Amino acid sequence: MASIVGTQDAAAGQLTLSTSPAAVLFDRDGTLCVDVPYNGDPARVVPMPTAAAALARLRAAGVATATVSNQSGVGRGLISLEQVSAVNRRLDELLGGIGPIFVCPHVPHAGCACRKPRPGLLLAAANHLGVPVAACAVIGDIGADMAAAAAVAARAVLVPTAATRAAQIAAATEVAPDLLAAVDLVLTRPRSAPAPGPAAAQPAPSAARSSRFDRSSRRASQAVGG
Ligand SMILES: [Mg+2]
Ligand SMILES: [Zn+2]
Repeated sequence: MASIVGTQDAAAGQLTLSTSPAAVLFDRDGTLCVDVPYNGDPARVVPMPTAAAALARLRAAGVATATVSNQSGVGRGLISLEQVSAVNRRLDELLGGIGPIFVCPHVPHAGCACRKPRPGLLLAAANHLGVPVAACAVIGDIGADMAAAAAVAARAVLVPTAATRAAQIAAATEVAPDLLAAVDLVLTRPRSAPAPGPAAAQPAPSAARSSRFDRSSRRASQAVGG
């Protein structure tokens, strides 16, 4: 359950309601760290600007975090899960703790339930943290992250990089210039109403649907290095 607190908006001089997320689920590549395609080398891990500050802010606010990452390089045979794990550990170390990391190792055409834009990794992460997925905020750098969040009615904030497509920026419900600004947004501002569409109109996933995702996530994805 999201906690709802009243905060004094000094600029406006008015009491505003803000909703803190139950947890923040981050994408990894291009969001928490610079995107190095199929990186299996911990020495090449470079945090994004303000990532450490953003995580420190969440830690101070007592908000749990997890990371949800597509790593098709595993399914393509380009990197091993052990290498992914080593990269995850390095990122965790550089950022002072990022919580559990859930990875989809499958290739895009595998049809798995965990590869974003499908929401399997988000469901697994929320389940692991013991929070409702719809009460989480998802922060990522591409449309697939936003779509996965929309599929489970989670709040979604896009932090674009130079590689993010303009159409995906235009389609995002909420956009922030960097990670710290994105975290500020979810901690201090109520979520924007999602754009009307099929995902927004759908009710929360049924129990049967959730457990199907959970089972396949347990089978197919792994919490690595967190
Ligand atoms: Mg990314
Ligand atoms: Zn998968």
